[in-house]
Amino acid sequence: MTNSALMATYAPPDILFEKGEGAYLFTEDGDKYLDFISGIAVTAFGHNHPHLVTTLKEQAGKYWHTSNMFRVKAGEQLAERLVKHTFADHVFFGNSGAEAVEAGLKMMRRYHFDRGDTERTRIIGMKNAFHGRTIATVAAAGNPAHIKGFFDGDLGCDHVPFGDIEALRAAITDKTAGVILEPIQGEGGILPAPDGYLKAVRDLCDETGILMMVDEIQCGMGRTGKLFAYEWSGIEPDILSSAKGLGGGFPIGACLANDKASACMVVGTHGSTFGGNPLATAVGNAVLDLMLEDGFLDQVRERGQQLKNGLADVADRHPEILGDVQGLGLMLGVKCHVPNTDMLARLRDANLLTGRAGSDILRLLPPLNLTEHHISEALAIIDQVCADWK
Ligand SMILES: *Cc1c(COP(=O)(O)O)cnc(C)c1O
Repeated sequence: MTNSALMATYAPPDILFEKGEGAYLFTEDGDKYLDFISGIAVTAFGHNHPHLVTTLKEQAGKYWHTSNMFRVKAGEQLAERLVKHTFADHVFFGNSGAEAVEAGLKMMRRYHFDRGDTERTRIIGMKNAFHGRTIATVAAAGNPAHIKGFFDGDLGCDHVPFGDIEALRAAITDKTAGVILEPIQGEGGILPAPDGYLKAVRDLCDETGILMMVDEIQCGMGRTGKLFAYEWSGIEPDILSSAKGLGGGFPIGACLANDKASACMVVGTHGSTFGGNPLATAVGNAVLDLMLEDGFLDQVRERGQQLKNGLADVADRHPEILGDVQGLGLMLGVKCHVPNTDMLARLRDANLLTGRAGSDILRLLPPLNLTEHHISEALAIIDQVCADWK
């Protein structure tokens, strides 16, 4: 169907985009699509944002790469800014979400190793989680479909139901190094942690001396209306993985950690050739410029509420097709009583790009700088598609 030279790991529809502008993507034939999935929460400021484009072009005209054999000014600045605005004391840069998670998984083990606790190597993950597609990250998430045929047996991870604090308590042993969870499960179905759960996990980690890592690759970087979603819970993790929106479309990942967790990551423990390169970190700084502007995150919360209310109204008008709306800020999921793949395809035919999550969720991850006009336009399309459903 598509280019047969590519491995068949993806199955995109037969649409070829040529350019993007803000919340819209255009095909070669000039068809216009409203983009409410943002390359899965990546293009946080839509397409072709002037500040991001200018920053990338400027850096491209200076130099692209030296590797971490040499200091990278933009990377030092981006790390400083992330530290300033979060719980973290230090940052490690990679090129993707999976690498950011992987750095955190290694850190959780190395932390105990350095304290002489060499038996504490196991990681507890949550059922229904997603942390990327490397061997370690699929092991941490434990999704059998992602593991099948790649390894069997034990890769040092245990899994408990998301939101069940007693199950977590029971799973922690003297072999446990740390816990990893998404404050809002993304791929799993836009499922926010129950109220008080992150706090309870934090307390349990402190009680047992293990580390707490949050994977905010999807729910972080302004997506919920706070810079990072853990801020809603009033706790601070030890480690956090970020990627997706951090680069606004340019590949970058970051593993943030407090002093306690990161002290073990000394020279020679970890590395990446491309991680933290000048292009990626220059764009990361430009993303932060926009995100940290006064009132920007307030606006994300406001638009998120408008979209959520609007979706609930549409669902009320078509209860046989749509159900509950869940999520926070501009990370929203709508339960589908029809196959979510059909819903996604029909919306796409009506020029609205969305995603799916879990088994029955329609996933909406619009650009964070969208306007009320974009929300009305998307709601009208969803309403019409539901009205025309046969
Ligand atoms: C997308 C995602 C990842 C993986 O990121 P990649 O850049 O694809 O490696 C990990 N965790 C979460 C929560 C994600 O949404």
